[in-house]
Amino acid sequence: MDTNRLWIHKALTCLEREALRSADTHLLRLDLPPFPGISFYLKDEASHPSGSLKHRLARSLFLYALCNGRLREGQVVVDASSGSTAISEAWFARLLSLPFVAVMPEQTAAAKITAITALGGRCLLLPPGERCAPFARQWAETEGACYLDQFGLAERATDWRGNNNIAESILRQMALEAHPEPRYVVCGAGTGGTSATIGRYLRYRRLRTALCVAEPTGGAFAEGFRTRSRDAVQTRPSIIEGIARPQVESGFLFDIVDLVEEINDVDSIAGMRFLESALNRRWGGSSGCSFVAAIRLARGMRAAGQQGSIVLLLCDEGDRYADTLYDAGWLHAHGYDLAAASVRLHELIGGDANDVADAH
Ligand SMILES: *Cc1c(COP(=O)(O)O)cnc(C)c1O
Repeated sequence: MDTNRLWIHKALTCLEREALRSADTHLLRLDLPPFPGISFYLKDEASHPSGSLKHRLARSLFLYALCNGRLREGQVVVDASSGSTAISEAWFARLLSLPFVAVMPEQTAAAKITAITALGGRCLLLPPGERCAPFARQWAETEGACYLDQFGLAERATDWRGNNNIAESILRQMALEAHPEPRYVVCGAGTGGTSATIGRYLRYRRLRTALCVAEPTGGAFAEGFRTRSRDAVQTRPSIIEGIARPQVESGFLFDIVDLVEEINDVDSIAGMRFLESALNRRWGGSSGCSFVAAIRLARGMRAAGQQGSIVLLLCDEGDRYADTLYDAGWLHAHGYDLAAASVRLHELIGGDANDVADAH
């Protein structure tokens, strides 16, 4: 056996140990009295050691690269990322003693760049308009680095039939609830890996649960889903990080998504702030986007006299956006009227939602 094969075994053992040390992420429950008989369940992916659901993806991408014989001892690892993936990949690269390089847009939140650097990673920042993924692929070729390729591989690197993927974890945690089979699961789409895993798993387990993708208004995924076109592009820019891709990524699978809800950025921010007031913790903008979509779905259920459960994902921690989405001055300077959006959200919920939210 060659020496690299031995190193691969060591690296796989190292990842397995990490998985054993890790606990599952919490499934929080939120009851809003204006929605009697409907419970919201929030999968807290911010509680991973590297702060977002990209912890799962990074682990899977390293495993995939190792098991495909694409990764050698001491090799530089590179990926294109809007930030969260790079933080998690830098975290795992450090665990495996590998140098890591992130290719990111220049306007990525400063806190994310700091986090990557603190984990020993290096950031290559590209000016607006330059696409990160082709750059990273080319850079890897020139430098002899291993390209993790989150956008190309997210959908296939995850074990969709189980192995404690996010869908299996959620459904196991729902087992003793009043409505263990959710009416809806709501998530965002960045690489499309999470929605692919959940959509496949719901079918595999023969559940009737519908999968809803929450997308910033004008997103490529929403347009592609409507027209079934993989050439669709984003028609309106969005500040919600982690989702709102400029084009239909190869991991976006239309056939296993049941519906797409489009949410304006300011409404996602209002949703994010509502979650903060209800649960006394901060998550990022994509969590707010999914929450507003979940409220719309709950309104439909309420109007139809239905009861049941709605699951949504809390994708990353809010600290990363302290200087942007959580900064009143920043929002004002960028023309977002949060007060009006919060009023709209409360009207959507109905009743005196903010005072009576009951979190478990
Ligand atoms: C990546 C990401 C998503 C979307 O998940 P995918 O599996 O990539 O589609 C949502 N929110 C945040 C904060 C993310 O980083």
